[in-house]
Amino acid sequence: MPHESIIEPVDDTSLDLGAQLLAQGKVVAFPTETVYGLGADATSDQAVAAIYRVKNRPTFNPLIIHVAQPAQARKLVEIDPLAQTLIDLFWPGPLTLVLPRRADSPLSLLASAGLDTIAIRMPDHPVALALIARADRPIAAPSANRSGSISPTTALHVEQSLGNDVDLILDGGPCRVGVESTILDLSGQTPTLLRPGGISVEQIELALGRPIALGGNDGAVKAPGMLASHYAPTRLLRLNQSSAQPGEALLAFGPGFPDATLNLSASGDLTEAAAHLFAMMRELDSPPYTVINVTPIPEHRLGRAINDRLRRAAAPK
Ligand code: AMP
Ligand code: MG
Repeated sequence: MPHESIIEPVDDTSLDLGAQLLAQGKVVAFPTETVYGLGADATSDQAVAAIYRVKNRPTFNPLIIHVAQPAQARKLVEIDPLAQTLIDLFWPGPLTLVLPRRADSPLSLLASAGLDTIAIRMPDHPVALALIARADRPIAAPSANRSGSISPTTALHVEQSLGNDVDLILDGGPCRVGVESTILDLSGQTPTLLRPGGISVEQIELALGRPIALGGNDGAVKAPGMLASHYAPTRLLRLNQSSAQPGEALLAFGPGFPDATLNLSASGDLTEAAAHLFAMMRELDSPPYTVINVTPIPEHRLGRAINDRLRRAAAPK
């Protein structure tokens, strides 16, 4: 059977289809001014888990949340006057701001890999903005390529990398900027560059009237998954357990654990397990539990990313 392309030219019909798919928890590739993004509903753990499944990432890296309006960001993160200044100057555009998650934020915990901070931006591309507005929800979107390959700047690149693992690719032509967004962390004492990108350090320093700190290794790109601030429970976490002592929690995966405190996926579905991981770790990292025991999780597909995170959480602190 001939392969039916899932690339669609942008018009009212394809934008509506994209918005509909996003509302159903599906993944949709769309152009931004930087690179093509692999988008999903940022308020749904299940939808965000589908992004990780399609990308085949071995780790859970927090994702950038895309909004259609600054007002939409206001409902998700805390925006102080400094952030407001940069938003006024550089949005829409390739500047991602890392800001504190609002206490009442509806964003998926998986989207921020369990962090209390959120990376957020408003892209400067009519197709991205129209799609997000029609979907009427924030969209989590990493670059639309398989993990380990280079970022796509055309719809064809996306199709070559992801094939029909993605439900729709909106073709908005080649991306204008072609490099990723600049990431600036505003969640600490000093504004800190986490990744250089489409907006220069000089532009930011001029806007703020003061120097910013260069994060990572002297401002080098922070390797994915290498964030020092990754969420880890404060309780002792034990891997590859089959039971728990009184007072301890058992976090299970798969059938056969009727006594589990919580089960990441009783049916053994790795995407469902990924969707539940951070919320369940948080829930068990509280009284009355003293220790979190975790049953074995298969080391393939999304299981690799789940195990990666669990191993970090279990490492001595
Ligand atoms: P990508 O989506 O592939 O462009 O990569 C997103 C980048 O944003 C990764 O390098 C993440 O480490 C970074 N990032 C996302 N959320 C946060 C956050 N809350 N704090 C710090 N960095 C973040
Ligand atoms: Mg990427």
